[in-house]
Amino acid sequence: MKIMKFGGTSVGKPERMHQVSELITKEKEEKIVVLSALSGTTNALVEIGNSIATGEREQAKQQIEKLEKHYQSFIKELVKKEEFYNKAKAIVAEHFEFLNIILKISFSEALNKDILAQGELLSTKLFSVYLDEKGIDHMLLPALEFMSIDAHDEPQIGSIKVKLTQLLKQHKDKSLFITQGYICRNARGEVDNLKRGGSDYTASLIAAAINASVCEIWTDIDGMHNNDPRVVKKTVPIEQLSFEEAAELAYFGAKILHPASIWPAQFYKVPVKLLNTMQPEAKGTLITGQAGSVGVKAVAAKDGIIDINIRSSRMLLAYGFLRKIFEVFEKYRTSIDMITTSEVAVSVTIDSDTNLKSILKELEPFGTVEVEKNYTIISVVGNEIAQTEDVLSKLFTALTPVPVRMVSYGGSKHNISLLIHSSHKTKTLQLLNRGLFGLE
Ligand code: ADP
Ligand code: ASP
Ligand code: MG
Repeated sequence: MKIMKFGGTSVGKPERMHQVSELITKEKEEKIVVLSALSGTTNALVEIGNSIATGEREQAKQQIEKLEKHYQSFIKELVKKEEFYNKAKAIVAEHFEFLNIILKISFSEALNKDILAQGELLSTKLFSVYLDEKGIDHMLLPALEFMSIDAHDEPQIGSIKVKLTQLLKQHKDKSLFITQGYICRNARGEVDNLKRGGSDYTASLIAAAINASVCEIWTDIDGMHNNDPRVVKKTVPIEQLSFEEAAELAYFGAKILHPASIWPAQFYKVPVKLLNTMQPEAKGTLITGQAGSVGVKAVAAKDGIIDINIRSSRMLLAYGFLRKIFEVFEKYRTSIDMITTSEVAVSVTIDSDTNLKSILKELEPFGTVEVEKNYTIISVVGNEIAQTEDVLSKLFTALTPVPVRMVSYGGSKHNISLLIHSSHKTKTLQLLNRGLFGLE
C-alpha cells in the first residue's frame, strides 16, 4: 500500500482536483490519499479564529461569508451533474453553518482548533463527491478516528497503528482511501492539529503505521531544491537525499516538508518521494537511507529564532553549570537549536517565545542574561559535509559581508548552522547560492 499526500495548491482549484484524481488512479496499487485544505483556506480560518478571539465578531462574520462564497463557486466547477452538485452544496452549507454557530459561542482554544479543522474536512469531503461523480470507488477515512497526539502533542504512533489497521480491515474490499491531513485528536479527545504544514506529518505517520511501500508528497514544486525558491531566483532540484539530510532541511526551514515529517518514515524505513502535481513527469526527490553523494546539497533558513546569552564569572571551571541551564529549558519543554560556550558565557537559541518569560526568570540566578530576537538560523546541509574539503573556506568566503553571530560545526555530520540577524537572511541565502552552488 502506498501513501499519496497532496498539498493545498494541488487541490486548490477544481482542475487540480481533476488532475489529482488522474494521478491516484494511474496505477493499481492500493493507496491512502492524504489531502490538505484548499490553498488559502487554513490562513483564512486562522484569521477567522483571530477575529473571534479578539471579539471582532462582525469582521469574523464577513470573513466566513467571503470564504463560503469561494467554496460555492469552487463546487460549481468541480462537479457537473445536479445530484453531485447538491451533495457538494450540502457539505459546504453544513461546514459554514458550523462556523456561523461558533460565532455565537464564547471563544476558547479548543473551539479555535475546531475552526482550523474545517479546511481539511471540506477538501476531503468535496473530493470524495467528485470521485463519486466520476464513478471512482473509494472510501473516506475520518482522520479524527485514528490520528491522535498525547498530552505533550506527540503523535501516538502505537495507537494510530492499531486504529488504522482496524479501520482498513473493516473495508477490505476497498483499494482507495481518502483522509484528512493535519487534523487529529488530542489527549483530551478534542479536535486538534499537527501544526501548520502538518499534512506532510500525517502522511509520514500513516506511512509508518501501515508500513507503506512509499510515502509520496505531491506539491507545487519538483522536489527539494538546493535553496529557498521564495528567496533566491535560481534554484535546482536535488535527486536524492538521505533521511538525515531531509530531516535537517525540514527542521531548519525548508517549507516543502513539515519540520517533524521525516522521522516516522525514517524510523519505519519507508522511502519518501517529493513530487510535483503540476509536472508529474519530473523526477522530484527521493529520500531513503542512502544519501547518494557526499558534499553540500542544500541550504535552508529558519526564522523567528531567539538568542539567549548567559554570562557568569562563576561558570569559570564550574562543572554542572550547563546541566543546570539545560534543566530550565527541559522544565519548560523548550528545545534548544544551537549552542556555543566559552569559559564565562553560554549562548543558546530557541524558536519559541511561549515560555520565554518563565525561562528568563529561572536563568537569572546564573548570571547576566541577555535576550535578542529576530534571528535566523541558516543551515548548510549535505552528507558528511563536516568532513568535506573546502566547505568551511567556501562558506566563510561567501559570507564575508555578513555578520555571523554563532556557528555550529561538528554536532551533526550533515549540517553546519550559522546564526545571523534576520535582516541579513536574503543576502546570506543569495551569497551562499553563488558561493556554494555557483548559482545566481
Ligand atoms: P503544500 O501546500 O503542497 O504542502 P508548501 O507550500 O507547504 O506546499 O511547500 C512547497 C513550497 O515550499 C514551495 O512552493 C516552495 O516555495 C517552498 N520551499 C521552501 N524551501 C524549499 C526548498 N528547499 N525546496 C523546495 N521548496 C521549498
Ligand atoms: N492546511 C494546513 C496548513 O495550511 C496543513 C497543511 O497544508 O499541511 O497548515
Ligand atoms: Mg506544506
